[in-house]
Amino acid sequence: MGGSGGWQITQTNTFDELGVDCVVEGRSESVDTLELFRKAIRGEELPRQIDVKHPLDREGILFPDSRTTFGVVEMTTGCGRRCKFCVPDLNPQIDLPKHKIMGAVRANVRDGNKQISLATEDMFIWGQVHTDTPFYFPNREALVDLYSDIVNTRGVEQHVLSHSTIAPAVVDPTLIKQLSELLLPKSPIHFPYLSSHPEKKALAPLIGLETGSVRMAKQIMPSKGVPFHIDDWPSVALEGLRVLNENNWFPAMTLIVGNPGETDEDVMATIDLIYEMERRGLFAFLIPSIFTPLHDTRMEKAKGVTQTKQLTPLQWQLMMKCWKMNLRPGQYSWWGPTAWRVGSIGMWLYKLRRLNGPNFTWPLWMFSGAISEKNLYRMGKIYMGKPLKVKTRKELIATLRASDWQFLRGDNGDLPEGYTPPSEPGQIFLPEVQEPLAQHA
Ligand code: SF4
Repeated sequence: MGGSGGWQITQTNTFDELGVDCVVEGRSESVDTLELFRKAIRGEELPRQIDVKHPLDREGILFPDSRTTFGVVEMTTGCGRRCKFCVPDLNPQIDLPKHKIMGAVRANVRDGNKQISLATEDMFIWGQVHTDTPFYFPNREALVDLYSDIVNTRGVEQHVLSHSTIAPAVVDPTLIKQLSELLLPKSPIHFPYLSSHPEKKALAPLIGLETGSVRMAKQIMPSKGVPFHIDDWPSVALEGLRVLNENNWFPAMTLIVGNPGETDEDVMATIDLIYEMERRGLFAFLIPSIFTPLHDTRMEKAKGVTQTKQLTPLQWQLMMKCWKMNLRPGQYSWWGPTAWRVGSIGMWLYKLRRLNGPNFTWPLWMFSGAISEKNLYRMGKIYMGKPLKVKTRKELIATLRASDWQFLRGDNGDLPEGYTPPSEPGQIFLPEVQEPLAQHA
């Protein structure tokens, strides 16, 4: 048995109870795991537990030479932003060679897969790992070249994005535009009420928002928005989402509720951010979930909320406001609003009021829409998010260190006052091709 929950079996010694003879901890696509399978096939005795190592460089990564589930092909490992709650970031930051990625793409279509998805924690680091440019300034040419070759591979009919971060959309909006032109035609996702694409197509990567509280962000993810300072996290999130939405990217965004040490002020700051999204007509599918301390991370011993009954009224309000925001597109139908009202109040009467406790009651009424938010606020039952003072892209770019200016692209505009990009720009190299491709604007 493998997977990130393997420790639950080894630490509770429930091998026999669950009928598990061997727990594999670590990366399964490894030489060690292959050897384990060979041992099993030979009928040799298996260890009860084996720790398999993660390769430290690109050459050590094994690539499948046949079709994979959902056409998933590995693109990067690790991340580099060092969020304290994150497991994948514990792996080394590696971007996998293009020829191997393309080989795996071709193997998938050869064996009948029509859809490809590149597995990554942040697609924007590919092509910029261990180069002279910091990984958080995306390598536009390399990314466009890779995705172009993938979607233009004969037999690839659909392509879906997996994970990314949001700061790169602020750093290089032109990259987002160029990727949209390439990827939208092959996206199987349609958002009829949101997309401006002629066929209503959309892109929907998963992005971590986690919190709108700068205080909390400093504690759990101080580098989430680099090259921008974490003090500007709400502005980075909103400006990034604006760029994405403009290009028909409607991401799923995760939020952590009940972080260790989270105060009412922190939750209010996140609610402010969500209301600001609403005020600005921005859309992301918001996925709030309760803090879970993950094994091996720097927060594995931290304790946050552990049961829904412990959630405060504000934490419940944040959860329910997120879900209410998610249902906005559904409200366009004639039956939508009534269905939410009747369904949610019915579920509350049937079960949720006992399961979730009294703090859930008013947020549920807010979610149902049966009483308006203004009236609930007047009754003192909910908090209304305050308007945020948000920095524009130009103002965010102006906060960058002078040493980072050289990595800005002129065609995005908003360059810092007094800065002119070099007239003899440097050359950009595609990973592994090592031929001059284009000029750095
Ligand atoms: S940005 Fe995402 S993948 Fe990267 S360290 Fe943070 S949580 Fe992990």
